[in-house]
Amino acid sequence: MADRVLAYGGGWLDRAGALRGNREWISARLTDPGAVLLPLWRDHCLVTADQTPVRLHPADAPEVLAAADETVFLGLDGEAPVFAVDLSGRTAPEAARLAGAAATADVRALVGWLEPAQAAVQAYARGLLHWHRQQRYCGSCGSATVARDGGHVRACSGPRCGRLLFPRIEPAIIVLVEAPGSPDRCLLARHAGAPEGAYSTLAGFVEVGESLEDAVRREMAEEAGVTLSALSYQGSQAWPFPAGLMVGFRATAASEEVRVDGEELLEARWFTRDELRRRAAEGRPLGRPDSIDHHLLGSWLAAGD
Ligand SMILES: [Zn+2]
Repeated sequence: MADRVLAYGGGWLDRAGALRGNREWISARLTDPGAVLLPLWRDHCLVTADQTPVRLHPADAPEVLAAADETVFLGLDGEAPVFAVDLSGRTAPEAARLAGAAATADVRALVGWLEPAQAAVQAYARGLLHWHRQQRYCGSCGSATVARDGGHVRACSGPRCGRLLFPRIEPAIIVLVEAPGSPDRCLLARHAGAPEGAYSTLAGFVEVGESLEDAVRREMAEEAGVTLSALSYQGSQAWPFPAGLMVGFRATAASEEVRVDGEELLEARWFTRDELRRRAAEGRPLGRPDSIDHHLLGSWLAAGD
């Protein structure tokens, strides 16, 4: 699974990290006739009537650029510079009118049929613009911050501060735990708020001062009372909703004993592959298809074939 490109990833753009710090270079890219603007409104894509994210060229969209709260450089698609334009300061109808869009839509609702590259770039745009809206002021001195480096840094404008703020990423671990003996079984849990019968793999945020492995062991112990005898990295997924990075593991429990915390997890139990296949056949999906959860379960099921 580690080689597999999950939804929202894939490195489709050349982010041009060595060039985007050059203000003149960025300005010149914005006047490139082939440049592409992706307008967004508050975490949503602006879409046409057939639910396709709107793509504009700067020469055709001076109003959009003038109305933008922020215009950030995402990268180069071949030769074409790609920018995300934030119209969140407008109402949704105003943003749609400016962009020539029919509606707004979350990329997660579109991912099932968008090209993987298109979904990844829209998610990247969403995450980066979200960060800009949350970092308008310096946490040290309270002065306004301004974007630079094509929108990949914000700098405090305070006279005696000048602190640089970088986009935040919040890692979370997600774990498929296997039982120690035979038959092969994996541990799935019903999370607080999930409907009756809805089970998924276990997950949690990495805390300060923890490695990913520390977080896996702590979360499994805290939430499910499970001690692990082994764990291995499976892959990761960009999850900019708003700032996540999902890091997938497979682990083996030291014993079959399970004790849920009753707060985050209401119930957890072991499932065989046959049980999971039966549930899938009954129309109970194994996680959202765009999620690493789905791929962890899918690869575990396939390993038993
Ligand atoms: Zn400051």
